[in-house]
Amino acid sequence: MSNKGQLIVISGFSGAGKGTVVKQLVEQYGYSLSISATTRAPRPGEVDGKDYYFKTEAEFRNLIDYNGLIEWAQYVDNYYGTPRKFVEDELAAGRDVILEIEVQGASIIKKQYPDAILLFITTKDVETLRERLTGRGSESEEQVMKRINRAAEEAEMIDNYDYIVVNDDLNTCTLTVHSVILGGKCKRERNRDFIKELQENFRAAK
Ligand code: 5GP
Repeated sequence: MSNKGQLIVISGFSGAGKGTVVKQLVEQYGYSLSISATTRAPRPGEVDGKDYYFKTEAEFRNLIDYNGLIEWAQYVDNYYGTPRKFVEDELAAGRDVILEIEVQGASIIKKQYPDAILLFITTKDVETLRERLTGRGSESEEQVMKRINRAAEEAEMIDNYDYIVVNDDLNTCTLTVHSVILGGKCKRERNRDFIKELQENFRAAK
């Protein structure tokens, strides 16, 4: 099978639980997780180099100018981007890398890395998303409305994704995402060289 690592993009509505799913994927199955650069200020408890690389706008611009990001996007009032080196090194070393990014970044990745697997994590409907956002208790009604509006825009982009997974139950969702990735890695198009070698191998044995 292909020795190269698999690039995996995971997006989803804010409140659909994608962060927790990604955490489980890393902890339970050993996926490598790309840490993004952002101009957003750290939230309480967030650590530079662990949650994000927190940058000034000038530093972020510099990263773009020196081709240090494989994609970047503006989300609400801040910039977010995926550092190139980590992703390329991990893939070359045969490790499967997860990018937890929003929809604009995901479509850039698909163009640059056609073999990437794009997954979208969702709640089963908007009411469930609203309940979860309200249930957090940390969001004002206005904030919840903003996130719902943003989710409605993101919903229009789901057509760009290869797979959609409903997060009804966390463990089931994580297992489904992991299974989808394993299945994607077995696709014929991803294993052309291996198939050729295998065929030659068997031809030689006749
Ligand atoms: P938050 O500010 O809540 O941490 O993230 C806001 C949004 O930015 C989330 O949808 C998250 O997935 C997305 N995001 C995080 N890192 C990146 C990145 O490197 N590139 C892009 N395009 N989006 C990102």
